[in-house]
Amino acid sequence: MSNKTLADLLFPHIDKTPDDYAALYPPRKLPQGARVTRLGPSPTGFIHLGNLYGAFADERLAHQSGGVFYLRIEDTDEKREVEGAVEAILSALDYFGLHFDEGATLDGDSGEYGPYYQSQRALIYQCYAKHLILCGEAYPCFCTEDELADIRSAQEGSGDNPGYYGTWARCRDLTLDEIQERLANDVPYVIRLRSQGDSARYFHIEDGIRGLLSMPENTQDVVLLKQNGIPTYHFAHVIDDFLMRTTHVIRGEEWLSSLPIHVALTNALALPFPVYCHTTVLMKLDGETKRKLSKRKDPELSLDYYQKQGYHPLAVREYLLTILNSNFEEWRLANPDRPAEEFIFSTEKMSSSGTLFDLDKLNDVSKEVMVRMDDQEIYDFLLRWAASYRDDLMPLLAGEEATLLRILAMDRHGDKPRKDLIYGEQIFDFISYFFTDHFKQIDPWPELIHQEEREQILAQYLATYDHSDDQTGWFDKVRELAVQLGYAAKPKDYKKSPELYKGHVGDVSTVIRIALVGRSSSPDLWEIQQILGEAETRRRIEASYSSK
Ligand code: GLU
Repeated sequence: MSNKTLADLLFPHIDKTPDDYAALYPPRKLPQGARVTRLGPSPTGFIHLGNLYGAFADERLAHQSGGVFYLRIEDTDEKREVEGAVEAILSALDYFGLHFDEGATLDGDSGEYGPYYQSQRALIYQCYAKHLILCGEAYPCFCTEDELADIRSAQEGSGDNPGYYGTWARCRDLTLDEIQERLANDVPYVIRLRSQGDSARYFHIEDGIRGLLSMPENTQDVVLLKQNGIPTYHFAHVIDDFLMRTTHVIRGEEWLSSLPIHVALTNALALPFPVYCHTTVLMKLDGETKRKLSKRKDPELSLDYYQKQGYHPLAVREYLLTILNSNFEEWRLANPDRPAEEFIFSTEKMSSSGTLFDLDKLNDVSKEVMVRMDDQEIYDFLLRWAASYRDDLMPLLAGEEATLLRILAMDRHGDKPRKDLIYGEQIFDFISYFFTDHFKQIDPWPELIHQEEREQILAQYLATYDHSDDQTGWFDKVRELAVQLGYAAKPKDYKKSPELYKGHVGDVSTVIRIALVGRSSSPDLWEIQQILGEAETRRRIEASYSSK
């Protein structure tokens, strides 16, 4: 049977060759060592932390090497497609500061290597399929679902490996006449690879993250084009990554098991290999055990979560670098003030055995990022966050810029800055006592100071309160009050001889703090009073003892 006759019969409309496409999409003119990476999401509507983790590795690899990071939408499965998904992908990545140099956009493509929507590349895939038919490396398969089910149950019976391969592959050796007859009768067909693999033979390939991999060759006659002429992921990505001149394919570990197929396809098409980099799944500690982050159980898997909670994108980026590269934390300690972009990211330093994702650790990282950020930037960020997710806070935040800047600056700029600020929701909660409607007592009064005593402290405090006292003058007065009432002037005096005192000055200021702030710990109380203003300060102190 002539392969050429078959190829022309199946693909009469294809007149280009793979060489034509290779010439149309020539090697990119980039500096030596530049990496070309891509994100290839399917538009299913759910973009999660794992995508961001991979995308961040892509972005770093490309941008630190003067290369290109592009977006390709893998929309070959119409059934799974969700409206608005591309917009969601673009806006989520944009939020986290991941910007593509080329690729799919909302209104089409930008770049010389498109189309970047796989659904628009059918002719390209068909050209490559025609080429494989021509070389005898592929064939049409007319098996119906029922026939495939028969093959499966026969394999179960005989204990053979499942799949379409070897002697199980009924359509592998159809004659041209048999094929022509089926085509004449409009029998639907797929195009399959004519596998040359042998499962007793191993191939070796260097994974950018996992090092040298050895796996048995693929033996399956996998589907290349489905009945509608649309390719499978396997076939499409091999062609696209070549034509888009991708150097590194960073993708989830779920693709590792189909690597033998991709190697076989790349070989059949005589294409160069990109560097495959298979990331690990994101895990979390659930009690004592580590488990995969789950869409159902873990809201933090969804990227919305970070936007809604109001994590600053820089904090998330910084945290992702921490889990992406094992040497990042050390670098950060040595270079606290350098932008994270200066860190040299490498796939070799990525974990190959499960990456632990931990919200507490993210919060710790965020504290460090926020403490380095200036007040104005935090304020602007809070406004943007509130405008999108907490409209109810806008009236409180928007009109009060000068006050808010003062609040955000509290105790953050000295030698030992407080690291109180973490993310939008938490920051608002942390400063909420400044807003009269949100002020409430959260911590209990100190247990050892009974009510009468407490009221006495507060009444006397109010009697001596002078809003124009400076910080030292104010604290001297608090100390004086403490001593008058039988408390030690210094905690260490109390520690030395507790029998001499009711407590120490700290206990007295805790009472005042709870009256003003509703919590037993806060930034500097004098500064808080100055921001609250004299009237509100007096009102809160008074209210706290007259109402109880
Ligand atoms: N479309 C594939 C997915 O959604 C992308 C895999 C890859 O990056 O090659 O998982």
